[in-house]
Amino acid sequence: MQSCDSSGDSTEEPVGGGLRGRPRQPRIVVIGAGLAGLSAARTLLEHGFTDVTVLEASDRIGGRVQSVKLEHATFELGATWIHGSHGNPVYHLAEDNGLLEETTDGERSVGRISLYSKNGVAYHLTNHGRRIPKDVVEEFSDLYNEVYNLTQEFFQRGKPVNAESQNSVGVFTRDVVRKRIKADPDDSETTKRLKLAMIQQYLKVESCESSSHSMDEVSLSAFGEWTEIPGAHHVIPCGFVRIVELLAQPIPRSVIQLGKPVRCVHWDQAAPGSPEIEPAGDHNRDRGGNREGHREEDREDGEGRRGRVFVECEDCEVIPADHVIVTVSLGVLKKYHETLFRPGLPEEKVAAIQKLGISTTDKIFLEFEEPFWSPECNSIQFVWEDEAESETLTYPEGLWYKKICSFDVLYPPERYGHVLSGWICGEEALVMERCDDETVAETCTEMLRRFTGNPNIPKPRRILRSSWGSNPHFRGSYSYTQVGSSGADVERLAKPLPYPESSKTVVGIAGPWGAVGLPPSVPPPSPTAPRDPLWECPLLTLAGLAPVRAPLPHASQPPLGTLVSAPY
Ligand SMILES: Cc1cc2nc3c(=O)[nH]c(=O)nc-3n(C[C@H](O)[C@H](O)[C@H](O)COP(=O)(O)OP(=O)(O)OC[C@H]3O[C@@H](n4cnc5c(N)ncnc54)[C@H](O)[C@@H]3O)c2cc1C
Repeated sequence: MQSCDSSGDSTEEPVGGGLRGRPRQPRIVVIGAGLAGLSAARTLLEHGFTDVTVLEASDRIGGRVQSVKLEHATFELGATWIHGSHGNPVYHLAEDNGLLEETTDGERSVGRISLYSKNGVAYHLTNHGRRIPKDVVEEFSDLYNEVYNLTQEFFQRGKPVNAESQNSVGVFTRDVVRKRIKADPDDSETTKRLKLAMIQQYLKVESCESSSHSMDEVSLSAFGEWTEIPGAHHVIPCGFVRIVELLAQPIPRSVIQLGKPVRCVHWDQAAPGSPEIEPAGDHNRDRGGNREGHREEDREDGEGRRGRVFVECEDCEVIPADHVIVTVSLGVLKKYHETLFRPGLPEEKVAAIQKLGISTTDKIFLEFEEPFWSPECNSIQFVWEDEAESETLTYPEGLWYKKICSFDVLYPPERYGHVLSGWICGEEALVMERCDDETVAETCTEMLRRFTGNPNIPKPRRILRSSWGSNPHFRGSYSYTQVGSSGADVERLAKPLPYPESSKTVVGIAGPWGAVGLPPSVPPPSPTAPRDPLWECPLLTLAGLAPVRAPLPHASQPPLGTLVSAPY
């Protein structure tokens, strides 16, 4: 059997002074150099912890923030907006560093996410090449938003229906909106059909925003649990990656190791002096740990032999640590949690990982020589008339493009050129990811020709798109509360391990708002200050999992602090 080498010696001495009285810094390993990992590392360094290492699988920092510069413009494959300003640390970081543009009062009052364009009109076009009249769109939009607001109320009122299968935003919205449309005596049959078809298009937009396969999978009873931070939504013209760079700026280069994927976190070791870590690939060997992570026979109370965490990397290096902060996405946890942790995570955490949802939302940027859209058009919304009575929004593989809900016009053209930004989510996004650029560009152009009724639209001169679903370092775009889950599952993930009633080794799971024990608002103690019991124990914290809208005041627990103030 292959054995991995243990590296580094900083854990040979106990934290805070051992038998030989030589105090040493706790060694803290952060897994992942996205916003959460960089924020954690920066916060630790700022508070006097010097033995910090960040291990990042890919060859860049930023994770799901990826700004691509093409000629003069920057395109965001991942995070784009700073959602809300009041008390949002990302907003303040951007504002303090002069990264934001002036916003108008009109923009400030936008309640829901507005896309790139500051002005203009959304064109709702059908697959028969017709534009849906503006008044019909407005009437439908009012009705949809009214029902959308209702979906937000169920969190306060309790579970809306008996059957869990009906506890879904999609099922509820489709049902209520449909009934109201059909019961409207003023509309002609033609108008009713158009409005019924629009429901599906709106639900596709909504699932792109939720990053779910379909709104039928999003929990109705938990939908109102998260609310947006008040204030305008901002984009960063020079790229969201500037936030990443600002976070990374004070972190010494030597702290971050790129191209260093972690294979397994051995979080309940007996802290042998020179451990021989069993490679994580061998799943069958019983390590003697139970599901709660207790190995009482291995645990020692002596200063130098407390339980430790050993981080085994793909290159076989094993890094001993006192604390580990894991910031991989929920998608990565879903796919790899069984091999990523040894012993395995406790059942309730595994259940939370399984219950919470994450799917793929991808962007497709198409650059044209000339605009074929009118100057007032800020987006093209695809309404399939044949979907008026559809119950599902799942398509056979060959029809993946029917899941593209819209193309937004990037604004202003002086900055971006003539670029449309398309949105696709769910399983169909994964099919799109498997196609080559040529096929995607061709398919999108065909769609645009069909819906605009203009067969002369030329192919774009350039295409750029994301592939968050198939990327092994992400396995999805962002998380949502799936039917059967709730914010309580996020809290279960966030709870440090073992639980307070247990002892020693601490495993905690947090969302992208920050890491358990390290909320920026409640800094960890300095190495010389009296220690919180949490910091006396090895800490394994998982971050980067959850939807991050600010919890409502009545949510069962206060937020842990916000690093990324967005519904992701
Ligand atoms: C398409 C899209 C649009 C979005 N839009 C917005 C938006 O407009 N506004 C907003 O606020 N947010 C948005 N988000 C969400 C936002 O990008 C994320 O919430 C945030 O970037 C998550 O940061 P994180 O550090 O928690 O996780 P990540 O960015 O996923 O970082 C985790 C890191 O861990 C690394 N990793 C994974 N496995 C391993 C391993 N085994 N070993 C070592 N390293 C590993 C990964 O490579 C990654 O760098 C969007 C995301 C996507 C995908």
